[in-house]
Amino acid sequence: MTNMKNEVVDAFKATLRGPVLQPGNPGYDDARAIWNGMIDRRPALVARCSGTADVVAAVGFARDNGLPLAVRGGGHNIAGSALCDDGLVIDLSGMRDVHVDPRSRLAWVSGGALLSDVDHETQSCGLAVPLGINSTTGAGGLTLGGGFGWLSRMYGLAVDSLVGAEVVTADGRRHWASAQDEPDLFWAIRGGGGNFGVVTLFQFALHPVGPEVTAGLVVFSAAQGREVMRRYRDLVDTLPDEMSVWAVLRQAPPLPFLAPEVHGSDIVALALFSPQPMDAVAPLVERVRACGQAVGEHVGAMPYEAWQKTFDPLLAPGARNYWKSHNFTHLSDEAIDVVLRYAASLPTPHCEIFLGLIGGKANTLPPDATAYPHRNVQFAMNVHGRWTEAADDGKVISWAREFFGAAAPYAAGSVYINFLTQDEGGRIHEAYGPNYARLVDIKRQYDPDNLFRFNHNIRPDA
Ligand code: FAD
Repeated sequence: MTNMKNEVVDAFKATLRGPVLQPGNPGYDDARAIWNGMIDRRPALVARCSGTADVVAAVGFARDNGLPLAVRGGGHNIAGSALCDDGLVIDLSGMRDVHVDPRSRLAWVSGGALLSDVDHETQSCGLAVPLGINSTTGAGGLTLGGGFGWLSRMYGLAVDSLVGAEVVTADGRRHWASAQDEPDLFWAIRGGGGNFGVVTLFQFALHPVGPEVTAGLVVFSAAQGREVMRRYRDLVDTLPDEMSVWAVLRQAPPLPFLAPEVHGSDIVALALFSPQPMDAVAPLVERVRACGQAVGEHVGAMPYEAWQKTFDPLLAPGARNYWKSHNFTHLSDEAIDVVLRYAASLPTPHCEIFLGLIGGKANTLPPDATAYPHRNVQFAMNVHGRWTEAADDGKVISWAREFFGAAAPYAAGSVYINFLTQDEGGRIHEAYGPNYARLVDIKRQYDPDNLFRFNHNIRPDA
């Protein structure tokens, strides 16, 4: 890239409607800042595409000039796959339009939209797509990996609501992928990540949700941890799909409904959600409360859009982050003991262990229905190593890795692709299981030269 003549770069810039940023340009450092503060990469060019035509031009420029190519959606991926060194980044952050047709209950979502963009437009019609739990996440990257959140037990994964998508492939062609059109490509993008091209437009089926839902936190002291976690496990084994309850083990943030003496202490928080009104799910809320003697709670009716932003302050961008993740089909007593042991030795106040409950509708399809294969998983457990000082890197990473190793014997042996860190390329088989071979075949068909390789890469020569 350093040998590329200025005229070549200028000619490229002239083909785009959006701006192209280079080192030293105003905004360049912001354009290479992503959610995980551990990632420090310096692309040669950042193309802020303003539409599909810009994406087609940028893909062609990278391909014809042999440049490394990365694609940035919301920039949340823990592995930093939104960026590459010395190459071209196709930055979709200027493509965040969402259009909703309430009559057909369909939404058209541009490739760089964030969850907050989708929730905002769909909720104005009392509709929603099942997405994730942090509103600043990119809908693109989340959906391409599978995508689960509060609505998944009721309505499945994000990919289960995907109806079609416009994909720009390595040869610069635009494809419409759906169950009818190019079904192999449609299958592959429902879990196969950004391996097959740039998705410039997603079309989703929508579900009636809210605007008011029932949600909140019931907080227990870590001293009750074993009893709470065992009761929680027993509770979710019989929980109807209309409710989801996630467990988070961490130090208590200074939440206004917690007494000051609880702030900073070790807690087990059960976060509950139902799209149903409070009176319809009151008995289920009681069952959550009955997991122990709560030290505080904040549960009730609230707008779905507000609940989707509840965890944003704890997950703000810029901190240093290292994750390790296991799927579980069931939480054994031994698994709970390991979780509690490592939750008792959190290396920084921002670290946490969370168990995201999936199951329900998300588990009603066969594993080969979409590229995302984990249709037997009850929990995705994520060890969130999170800290601010580089001096703590070793301490936190070691804690996360040790915990991961100790929990492995009780886990399912599979992992959610969107939770893999940059040093976990070797776990691609765990992420795709029996679907890996078909993904390789489709990769050979659509990206034989592996232009799209700055991701958890499905190699065409595998
Ligand atoms: P990016 O880093 O921009 O992109 C991620 C990958 O997808 C890159 O390889 C990129 O090239 C590719 N990509 C993105 N958009 C496109 C596109 N339009 N076309 C082609 N390729 C594209 N996941 C869940 O399922 N549920 C959750 O509740 C959840 N919560 C999260 C909370 C936080 C704080 C974070 C950091 C992550 C969370 N995730 C969750 C994981 C999340 O799904 C992944 O990090 C996902 O990759 C983020 O997508 P992005 O577009 O923001 O990221």
